[in-house]
Amino acid sequence: MLFDSVPADRKKYTLQDTFTFSCHRGLPCFNACCRNKHLPLSPYDVLRLRKALRLDSDSFLVDYAVYALDSRSGFPVISLKMNEDEEKTCPFVGDEGCRVYPDRPTACRLFPLGRATRSGGAASREQFFFLQDIPGCLGKNESKTWTVERWLKEQGALPYMAINDKMLDLLFHPKREIGKPLDDRQLQKLIVACYNLDEFRAFVEKTKLLDASRVDDETRERIERDDTALLMFGLAYLTATLFE
Ligand code: SF4
Ligand code: SF4
Repeated sequence: MLFDSVPADRKKYTLQDTFTFSCHRGLPCFNACCRNKHLPLSPYDVLRLRKALRLDSDSFLVDYAVYALDSRSGFPVISLKMNEDEEKTCPFVGDEGCRVYPDRPTACRLFPLGRATRSGGAASREQFFFLQDIPGCLGKNESKTWTVERWLKEQGALPYMAINDKMLDLLFHPKREIGKPLDDRQLQKLIVACYNLDEFRAFVEKTKLLDASRVDDETRERIERDDTALLMFGLAYLTATLFE
């Protein structure tokens, strides 16, 4: 979430600030939050969910993703397609909780926190955290105390945030006029490199992009066998070429 999307009266938390929270099956609200929500998916969220579900990129995007263009940022937003039942339940919630828990998306890892960010490049990224206002969530009445930093580590959120921040750098790219919508060519390029890694892999092979990019042998080998390395390469490729 961008800085100015967070209501001004919301308390801003740093990594060292504390909050109380505990989520467990004993609470009457267990699973109640996994429905009727807008759940944006970052490129790394899509990668992890797709792997957990053993789906190719096209199948995941068709079955589980909703596409929209964010009018504020001018960037595409991919979010999780909720079930078409009355409560709009998450497709991954079951009686025992989240069925993709080890690969759950960033927003679910951060909850009950939200994260607001902005970037002037890798050297000047800024962030703050805030407590989400979710009616009926009883976890925030529990007594267990966390620092924000410990919560993020415990939830495995840090690698997600690090990769998501590369996307943030694209949003705040120095060659881009903030908020200017991407044109069709830029949109297509970004969607393929970030969200459809199968298609991007085929493009990289067909165009011999790794040769042209002069990556070293070790990096090349990683990109060829690992989708996370391919995504990182794709983000670097977009940073270098999207706003040429
Ligand atoms: S992905 Fe898991 S934690 Fe997130 S809303 Fe769905 S069921 Fe809940
Ligand atoms: S509503 Fe809050 S406490 Fe209840 S299951 Fe969801 S996150 Fe946990």
